[in-house]
Amino acid sequence: MTEELSPRASASEQGYEGALRPGTLGEFVGQAKVRKQLGLLLDAASRRQHTPDHILLAGPPGLGKTTLSMIVAAELDKPLHQTSGPAIQHAGDLAAVLSALTPGEVLFVDEIHRMARSAEEMLYLAMEDFKVDIMVGKGAGATSVPLELSPFTLVGATTRAGLLPNPLRDRFGFTAHLEFYGEDELARVVSRAAGLIGFALSEQGIAEIAGRSRGTPRIANRLLRRVRDYCLVHETVGDTESVRAALALYDVDEHGLDRLDREVLRALVERFGGGPVGLSTLAVSVGEEAETIESVVEPFLVRTGLITRTPRGRVATRLGWAHVGAEPPEISQI
Ligand code: ADP
Repeated sequence: MTEELSPRASASEQGYEGALRPGTLGEFVGQAKVRKQLGLLLDAASRRQHTPDHILLAGPPGLGKTTLSMIVAAELDKPLHQTSGPAIQHAGDLAAVLSALTPGEVLFVDEIHRMARSAEEMLYLAMEDFKVDIMVGKGAGATSVPLELSPFTLVGATTRAGLLPNPLRDRFGFTAHLEFYGEDELARVVSRAAGLIGFALSEQGIAEIAGRSRGTPRIANRLLRRVRDYCLVHETVGDTESVRAALALYDVDEHGLDRLDREVLRALVERFGGGPVGLSTLAVSVGEEAETIESVVEPFLVRTGLITRTPRGRVATRLGWAHVGAEPPEISQI
């Protein structure tokens, strides 16, 4: 899919993203409920002079999970250790991380659903009693040696909360479900970021970017950067016209659909009569991996009401037909 609209971070933009991260809960835009809940949790912990409960942040990529983990550490005034599920392939990897934590440290595990099973089991005990059992030796002579850990706060992030085993999910005292952002919230994200990078953007320009950002701050910030570059090179100001011209160059339409989204929608309407059609058939027909269609394209098209999921497959809605400029048949299942 168009790189501009991928909700996942690319390595090259880490510095840019880092510079735009809000540093406090007060600066964090939107997610009002999560902010209130987290604020209370952190406040209570500091009054009790105790580490807060472990925190699970669930939600699609690009909505602010990493940022919130940094805010938790900053608000607690404790260091943050960052790692990720795929980096923990053995219980030993986790033991090494846990045993190096200092008292009160915040441990952020991104994509926690991808951690190895053996490590997961070690994590249960660590989360509950701040202890781990380390296996020493092999075979019949192997013994387990208990190791005391410093109290820490685990902040786990997952895009697939449903994949977490219950015993792990149950050990988080607080779970925050991050929601996609509304356009006015995204406008605040864009406006704040534009200020930080020193780029003058009109109100309408801000709204144009917000409307195409698929409910995702990461995408909003990335589109902002493309527009900034465009204006710099074309020596124009950040108004509606230049935002539209810049984003048209990257194939981002006014609803935030890119070429792949439109291809999927068009295939559904034109080749399969609006559906229902199975996801893998749809993926093959546009020459894409089923995984990409399922995790990135489909959720957005469903959310914007262009397609629906039925037990028999994906179906284009009236809005979906209209989006590709086609008339739906009179009698249809939509
Ligand atoms: P995730 O970990 O969920 O993939 P990140 O925390 O890395 O998302 O956020 C991606 C980018 O979006 C960062 O540059 C961050 O500054 C920005 N961002 C995310 N949420 C917000 C927010 N609520 N307010 C302002 N900027 C945000």
